[in-house]
Amino acid sequence: MINLCFHGIGTPPHDAPAEEAAYWIGTDTFRRVLDVVAVRPDVRLSFDDGNESDVEVALPELVGRGRTADFFVIAGRLGHPGSLSAGDVRALRRSGMGVGSHGMHHRVWRRLRPPELREELVLARERLEDVLEEPVRTAACPLGRYDRTTLTALRRLGYTRVYTSDRALARPGSWRQARFSLRATDTADDVAAWLRHGDRYTVRAADRARTFVKGLR
Ligand SMILES: [Zn+2]
Repeated sequence: MINLCFHGIGTPPHDAPAEEAAYWIGTDTFRRVLDVVAVRPDVRLSFDDGNESDVEVALPELVGRGRTADFFVIAGRLGHPGSLSAGDVRALRRSGMGVGSHGMHHRVWRRLRPPELREELVLARERLEDVLEEPVRTAACPLGRYDRTTLTALRRLGYTRVYTSDRALARPGSWRQARFSLRATDTADDVAAWLRHGDRYTVRAADRARTFVKGLR
């Protein structure tokens, strides 16, 4: 199966960091991608960063198509301009969407000191659980970066599934789930090609070894 990862839909706010703006796609592209995956139950959808467009654009499109997705929210941005509010996150759940943690401050989870790692993996999740009044058990690594310490901590804390951005096909039941993140320059045709020739676009053997090693560092 293939996991697709979206970020903002529409025009990025002008103060968006460049590394985030590079992942915003237009609303038309988004709709065309949903058309492409409409007949593909083996494609799982997720949204990172908790941008307002999650509820303003993505949610109605998904509901209209009878599709679900997982939304990975940055807890420290809840209620900030351009980001989801607590009410928005509850609305996602009420509509049958999954909600997971994307940490507290959108910083890389590699090589964090223990207090920072606790803030990202424990306190961020608690904040989301307070909003949702239910356990949060999934996470997506900010900027797709992680190391062995990160994975070990996530496992120990009881996360049941962790999403990366390793551009590989995924096994449905795996604990670590690779994803293809759409970039601003990607089109629905690109996504169709990934789906048709997933193996060709997926990380090659050397990259797969590197992905494996990422989890060992
Ligand atoms: Zn992110």
